[in-house]
Amino acid sequence: MVRYVYEFAEGGREMAGLLGGKGANLAEMTRMGLPVPPGFTVTTEACRAFLATGSAPDGLDREISEHLTALEEAAGRRLGEPADPLLLSVRSGARFSMPGMMETILDVGLNDESVLGLAKVSGNDRFAWDSYRRLVQMFGSTVMGVDGALFEDVMARLKERRGAADDLGLDAADLAELVEAYKELIRDRTGEYFPLSPAEQLRRAVLAVFDSWNGERARIYRRREHIPDDLGTAVTVQTMVFGNLGADSGSGVAFTRDPATGRPGLYGDYLPNAQGEDVVAGIRNTVPLDELGRIDPESFSRLRDLMRTLETHYRDLCDIEFTIERGTLWMLQTRVGKRTAEAAFAIAGQLVEEGLISEDEALTRVGGSGLARLMFPRFDTSAVGEALAHGIPASPGAAVGAAVFDSAEAVRRAATGEKVVLVRQETTPDDLPGMVAAQAVLTSRGGKTSHAAVVARGMGKVCVCGAEEIAVDPHGRRFTVGGTTVEEGTVISVDGSEGAVYPGAAPLVDSAVMRYFETGGQDEEPKGLVAAVARAMRQADGVRRLGVRANADTPEDAARARRFGAEGIGLCRTEHMFLGDRRQLVEAMILAGTDAAREQALDALLPLQRQDFVGILEAMDGLPVTIRLLDPPLHEFLPDRTELAVRLAAAEAQGSPPSTHDAELLDAVNRMHEENPMLGLRGVRLGLVAPGLVAMQVRAIAEAVVERKRAGGDPQAEIMVPLVDTVEELRIVREEVEQVLAEIADRSGVALSCPVGTMIELPRAALTAGRIAEEARFFSFGTNDLTQTTWGFSRDDVEAAFFSAYLDKGIFTVSPFETIDREGVGRLVEIAVAEGRAVRPDLKIGVCGEHGGDPESVHFFHAAGLDYVSCSPFRVPVARLEAGRAALPGTNGGDTR
Ligand code: PEP
Ligand code: MG
Repeated sequence: MVRYVYEFAEGGREMAGLLGGKGANLAEMTRMGLPVPPGFTVTTEACRAFLATGSAPDGLDREISEHLTALEEAAGRRLGEPADPLLLSVRSGARFSMPGMMETILDVGLNDESVLGLAKVSGNDRFAWDSYRRLVQMFGSTVMGVDGALFEDVMARLKERRGAADDLGLDAADLAELVEAYKELIRDRTGEYFPLSPAEQLRRAVLAVFDSWNGERARIYRRREHIPDDLGTAVTVQTMVFGNLGADSGSGVAFTRDPATGRPGLYGDYLPNAQGEDVVAGIRNTVPLDELGRIDPESFSRLRDLMRTLETHYRDLCDIEFTIERGTLWMLQTRVGKRTAEAAFAIAGQLVEEGLISEDEALTRVGGSGLARLMFPRFDTSAVGEALAHGIPASPGAAVGAAVFDSAEAVRRAATGEKVVLVRQETTPDDLPGMVAAQAVLTSRGGKTSHAAVVARGMGKVCVCGAEEIAVDPHGRRFTVGGTTVEEGTVISVDGSEGAVYPGAAPLVDSAVMRYFETGGQDEEPKGLVAAVARAMRQADGVRRLGVRANADTPEDAARARRFGAEGIGLCRTEHMFLGDRRQLVEAMILAGTDAAREQALDALLPLQRQDFVGILEAMDGLPVTIRLLDPPLHEFLPDRTELAVRLAAAEAQGSPPSTHDAELLDAVNRMHEENPMLGLRGVRLGLVAPGLVAMQVRAIAEAVVERKRAGGDPQAEIMVPLVDTVEELRIVREEVEQVLAEIADRSGVALSCPVGTMIELPRAALTAGRIAEEARFFSFGTNDLTQTTWGFSRDDVEAAFFSAYLDKGIFTVSPFETIDREGVGRLVEIAVAEGRAVRPDLKIGVCGEHGGDPESVHFFHAAGLDYVSCSPFRVPVARLEAGRAALPGTNGGDTR
């Protein structure tokens, strides 16, 4: 029998898949004996059943009502009972935290009668009516679908009539009037009455929370965070406790360490006389948590103890929501808290030092995406000048962009490629698309736990919040600070690490982490963040099995890659060596009418190529350098067809004689024109039909090796053949390569051993890898081409044309060009590895497509048994870190943070 409802005491944190993160952690805290208001959780399974059929699964109503009865018996009060009502909160909670993305309904159980009972027992009329007004408002918008802004308008009008600055300026009678006005609004908009039956309120609230799983902002958030669409959310139903009962009550959010920097110490925001929702919504400015020590020392000290208990139990940074109801502290939520990349590294290091976790576990707590963010530049604080304003540094990093004042404008400008900063008084979940589109978020209100701060941190976006000096005027589309007005479109710089805002585009400097890598990790005594990064890198390098190489084709890139920890070059593309001044030589080769003319052109290219390779082999001395023979179609090195035609036509129109060179070039371009160049004469095919090309390149490599050896070096060149479809192609090219190598060895008297291998980047090659391995000493997966050809789409064309529609429709959760498509392309990789190694057990296998530097893909390549990944130099630290994480049990393909 499927069960859809679990009492808190029945669950635990290991049940997050079924109970959602919130439900599982409430259960865990209940088990630990922490003060958690009692309740129960409706499972994600019930949600999935509801979303599939559109109605509650059989038995759900009965289970909810049984659990409600048990709750009522334990409380000695009934839901919505007129004299002394039990009231409930109904909250969403998916497996992965999606802060603010789904719905919450508080104070379920209030109606025209029970509000009077609540007023009586609490001795506080205003509180009772305020709670009722919140229920009608939340229920009206969330469950009954009335636009939330309409409720705000009604409230704003009343406040204006009363001359009240905020909601605290409304008294009980005002709030009672508001309840009636809200009910009328609902009736007017939906044709339905607000339901007064507490049981119906509960039932409908649960289903509305299920429904909110598919709300727009939840879907946008999931797409961004790569959370699968089919998980569904759980719903926790919990006895209400009240932080809005007066000065001895309040609500807060707290972290066991600073989630922005990782600094140890209790940390958070507190809002006296308020419910939890008010804290996160940033509607009134909170006070720092330390203030609670002054307001209510006893609760503060109890909170400190509980948080220590939680952190030791979870062995990680925890965040909590709590409420103090007339001096009694209640825990409403906890979870392992979201944090910035900086904090993730810092905290992992601290927890090892504190003996709470091992070095391996610390490695699972950090990740490549975060590391990549830490390598971005920061503002040069010595050159930025006067700040326009200061706020709370809520999510670190440096961002420059044009100020915009609403989400739609942010999205519109970002779509044209403009960088924008979203400036709001405070953000709400409706601002999510704009936050995604913006480089940074700046708000004038709210603390480090406001919506803006929490969401920006989760996304790794720069955020400064609570910059109170600025007055945001969303209608006038400007903000003012001191005597300065910043209109929409004006460029500003936001420093999320320091909490400062600067006019114009502030100058940037390298990050300390980048400097650390640039010096080859030589810093003897790294401090702070750099020390934490160094520690994680050391651990990753110690445990990883995968080698990490770089894609580099200049000596400078090779040297940088080496400083960043690359253990060789996995892909040296030779095509850029045919560009610039050398293009003329390539043209001459293509246009050559005779063997002698072609040889002359190739002979002129040879020494230039040789010098390229000497530089690269020197920079990577002692480490393997995989040099790929020319890959792109030759016509890429000729001038553009239209340009040539226009040049010739213009000459003709002016009556000047047409240039013979241009005419010959146009002729060649026309001859070589291809409809689908990516599927045309390129890769190994080129080497097989363009006489002398392979020989020239191999000669350049071989002579470079000889030169390096004579200079006392240890060059380790490997020759790689691109775009092979069949073993025959490889066999012919390999024979030619070996012949040239033998000739040069003979002539120079220097022994040459350059292994010859191939790229596996076509499905046919993957499927016949066993045959190909007969001729190849190594494989390197070209997952860029392998993805294109497996899916049958051209990257250059499809990404702009329909990828965003595919992401919207959930056909992809991530572009297959970004993260390896395990099911299709990955399957080809697995087949090729197995069949290649079956024929040649010592076959060396790597990957050099873009996926080699993608955290999640690195986990796949580890599991597929590759020997190394190769990626751009800047991704090398990321790949090292992820290769280490991939080697730890239980992290395969997991959260790459
Ligand atoms: C590949 O196809 O993955 C690859 C590395 O080659 P290129 O991107 O140069 O085609
Ligand atoms: Mg390729």
